[in-house]
Amino acid sequence: MPTILVLAEVADGKLRTASLPAFNFARQVAKHHGAEVHALVIGSGIGAAAQEAAKYAAKVHVVDSAALAQPLAETYAPVLVAAAKAAGAVVVCGTATSTGKDVLPRAAALLDAGMASDCTEVVDGKTFGRPMYAGNANARVQVLTPTIVASVRQTGFPAAEPQAPGAVAALDPGAIDAKGATFVKVESAKSARPDLAEARVVVSGGRGMKEGKNFEIVGQLADLLGGAMGASRAACDAGMVPNDLQVGQTGKVVAPELYIAVAISGAIQHLAGMKNSKVIVCVNKDAEAPIFQVADYGLVGTWEQNVPALIEEVKKLKASQT
Ligand SMILES: Cc1cc2nc3c(=O)[nH]c(=O)nc-3n(C[C@H](O)[C@H](O)[C@H](O)COP(=O)(O)OP(=O)(O)OC[C@H]3O[C@@H](n4cnc5c(N)ncnc54)[C@H](O)[C@@H]3O)c2cc1C
Repeated sequence: MPTILVLAEVADGKLRTASLPAFNFARQVAKHHGAEVHALVIGSGIGAAAQEAAKYAAKVHVVDSAALAQPLAETYAPVLVAAAKAAGAVVVCGTATSTGKDVLPRAAALLDAGMASDCTEVVDGKTFGRPMYAGNANARVQVLTPTIVASVRQTGFPAAEPQAPGAVAALDPGAIDAKGATFVKVESAKSARPDLAEARVVVSGGRGMKEGKNFEIVGQLADLLGGAMGASRAACDAGMVPNDLQVGQTGKVVAPELYIAVAISGAIQHLAGMKNSKVIVCVNKDAEAPIFQVADYGLVGTWEQNVPALIEEVKKLKASQT
């Protein structure tokens, strides 16, 4: 039976929830090929993650090696290729995370496979929808090579539901060669807030926040709502907040249940990263700002006046619920 192979990512020994939309994509593609969904889990000390991945696949291939402790594309891509060949994969996919964007195109080149990137729709087994031009056009891409590689936009598919666990088996990918690349270090900002790309609520601030310390109020509202903090590129570029908070075409793509844009104009490049949010709320002093065109609820006024009032109302509401 042909297989659809999912690159299942691991972070801190656990299966990343970011990979679950890729399983959903894989299940839809599998129906068109009469195929089974398999998963590949790569890393070091990844037994628990492999067991977790088994809830989403008929079979999990595990490559557990100290040499694979860090996700280097130079080592992961050949392992993915070995697994694709061993599993008889007709489609190899993964979420378009920074790791997925690094590993999947290399695997496509090694497999001599055509690739569809950032897919948001399965049309049939070889045709996929994907946004283009900052989300202003939707393209349909047909890939005609015998093996297809696809990356999946995380917000394009809901997380797959767990099912009866599949089998877990070790895979020997052969010698692991980093081809001269060496892992040096990862520098990542630690935050008690949920991951921006996975949060149910995102509160973002823009250039109208004027300076970094004013983002405390954005963070306060995010914390009250159990959400993540985001920002426009103008706010990041001005050094008000770190770049990893940037939402938009060249930042993170988010689709939370609630997106609150504070003092953000709603430039097309910002909208590309958040317009698929379920409910959009904005606070902006300029009634002509384009953000109002996509907002479900818009408040014309300054953040200085309105965000503290909003925080008080949320606090009151929470207190009345306990
Ligand atoms: C190739 C390319 C890629 C890009 N990628 C991205 C991207 O990924 N993400 C992104 O965000 N941008 C991106 N941009 C930049 C984008 O075009 C805009 O410049 C940017 O989004 C503007 O950010 P902003 O809305 O915070 O700032 P501004 O456009 O300056 O808007 C500030 C808003 O705050 C309001 N405001 C001011 N003071 C207050 C106040 N006291 N209370 C309430 N409201 C107030 C103003 O009315 C205004 O609407 C990209 C641009 C290019 C060319």
